[in-house]
Amino acid sequence: MDLETARLRLMHQLSREIRDKKVLDVMTRVPRELFVPSGSQHAAYENIPLPIEMGQTISQPFIVALMTEAMQITNKDKVLEVGTGSGYQTAILCELANWVVTVERHQRLLDKAKNVLTRLGYTNVEFHCTEKMLGWTEGAPYDAIIVTAGAPNVPQILLDQLAAEGRLVIPVGSRFEQELMKVVKRKEGLETTNLGACRFVPLIGEGAWDEG
Ligand code: SAH
Repeated sequence: MDLETARLRLMHQLSREIRDKKVLDVMTRVPRELFVPSGSQHAAYENIPLPIEMGQTISQPFIVALMTEAMQITNKDKVLEVGTGSGYQTAILCELANWVVTVERHQRLLDKAKNVLTRLGYTNVEFHCTEKMLGWTEGAPYDAIIVTAGAPNVPQILLDQLAAEGRLVIPVGSRFEQELMKVVKRKEGLETTNLGACRFVPLIGEGAWDEG
């Protein structure tokens, strides 16, 4: 099957579960084949995660769509992404938000992602390589935060970086399987919704998992 046919088939699949038309439109436009390793391009529009370098993965398209929809991004929003990885989710955030801050602990992945995103013409994004600290406090507060790696719990340091009425979407659970949680910072307190089971690589750092 050629990539164009595969892409249409994938978008049809996603449209059965994702209601936000803006999210579907953006996912139709962003070329996922540019973010997967060259040997996997034929599988770019399969609804599956794929391995990238450094033992990491590019997330499954359905999960990308679900998380993006849950973030409820408007074109005035400043958003933070923890775990740039391939940069595919970053491109989708760039399409929807006013400004994107993306952080990644592997410089090599960050450089590759930066190259592709620059090539695609995105200018509303800044990239940072982070060590132990979660997120990017210098840019806070954020209207929405997405964490694309699994955490043992909802890290307080990320809640601190969230604006009033801000949305945090994060997989929470064990190193191997998690529940996708959406946390909204209301005046009255945190409002938490479980969006279902998922599997992400572990979030590494203080307040998350050890490497290894
Ligand atoms: N959204 C990415 C997912 C990549 S996998 C994509 O679809 O391509 C998750 C990424 O999170 C990995 O690249 C991993 O290196 C990174 N990561 C793990 N812990 C991190 C941390 N504390 N800060 C920043 N990035 C982290």
